[in-house]
Amino acid sequence: MTKKTIAIVGAGLAGLSCAVRLTELGHHVELFEKSRGPAGRMSTKRNEGWAADHGAQYFTARDPMFIEQVKKWVADQTVALWTPEIKVYEANQWSTFQSQDLRYVGTPAMNTPAKQLAKGLVLHASQTIDALSRKDGQWFLHSAEAGNIAKGFDELILAIPGPQALTLAQHLDPHIQTITGQSNMKGCWTLMARFQDRPEVSFEAAFVNQEIISWVARNSSKPQRTGQESWTIQANPLWSQEFIELSKEEVTERMLACAKTLGLDCTEAEIVVHRWRYASGSTTATLGFYSNPALHLGMCGDWLNGGRVEGAWLSGYHLASQFA
Ligand SMILES: Cc1cc2nc3c(=O)[nH]c(=O)nc-3n(C[C@H](O)[C@H](O)[C@H](O)COP(=O)(O)OP(=O)(O)OC[C@H]3O[C@@H](n4cnc5c(N)ncnc54)[C@H](O)[C@@H]3O)c2cc1C
Repeated sequence: MTKKTIAIVGAGLAGLSCAVRLTELGHHVELFEKSRGPAGRMSTKRNEGWAADHGAQYFTARDPMFIEQVKKWVADQTVALWTPEIKVYEANQWSTFQSQDLRYVGTPAMNTPAKQLAKGLVLHASQTIDALSRKDGQWFLHSAEAGNIAKGFDELILAIPGPQALTLAQHLDPHIQTITGQSNMKGCWTLMARFQDRPEVSFEAAFVNQEIISWVARNSSKPQRTGQESWTIQANPLWSQEFIELSKEEVTERMLACAKTLGLDCTEAEIVVHRWRYASGSTTATLGFYSNPALHLGMCGDWLNGGRVEGAWLSGYHLASQFA
């Protein structure tokens, strides 16, 4: 295949794995990312003297290709196993969570694998792509921060959540509406708490089957975490979706009241709340990726491939392999 110039919108794990593979195949790739750095939903929130992973909490690896990638990350200390004491809270009762799954986390923060993949790539950060156009067989991008991007690209890849891809590109490709319509993405309210001392609770992580909270984890129990004691609490996707427009103050009050019933009293803690508008999608999505060769347009992301970190990485990798 002739070497192409390819623009990728979104530097989450899908966009990054796609970019790495395309570069290996000899193409010229440029990433455009609206945040200040890569990682997307594998991010870590840094505060004064403390930090907490506020998106993906850990990931698993089942596909042989992703297992190989994880082995490399483990070898270069980008990633490590996390083996917390996990409990389950259901019907007002606690039990121990039994699972053979190996759980991996980035070290020293969840965004490290993304930063590792981004090394050597051309990444334009703080560039929100808000308009796309085609002229003379090339794609042109417009950024909210920088205006028109002068350079044209042979191919365009959208590595952003389905609803955002719909807004950006539905007028360009009629299939996008149908495909993104199946993404079923829900929001997630995430609360991070910084404590002076380690709270006295009998777990380091917990799956909670309750109306408001679905997950609690001691961020400080993850490998290589430094800084003050921090915990991450995530709200149930259905509750989050229903109350996604609530004020942060109200969400904090409701989530903390619920955390207290689980034995985690955050009264003295410093609290930071984050609203994810598009946190997780369908875990049954099997399309893998989307490619429209006639339009020179592709899409990848977790929402096309099982809704998790592993699915995002594989989605980007397999889309890129179409350009071999
Ligand atoms: C709260 C939460 C908890 C989670 N827990 C887990 C877990 O425990 N295990 C697990 O495996 N997965 C988990 N996930 C899911 C996991 O984080 C995602 O599956 C994965 O990170 C998605 O990667 P992606 O590249 O597909 O998308 P993203 O990471 O969303 O990447 C898309 C990127 O595109 C950028 N972008 C969007 N629009 C534009 C635009 N117009 N212009 C430029 N840039 C743009 C975004 O800033 C973002 O960086 C969780 C997610 C959340 C939010």
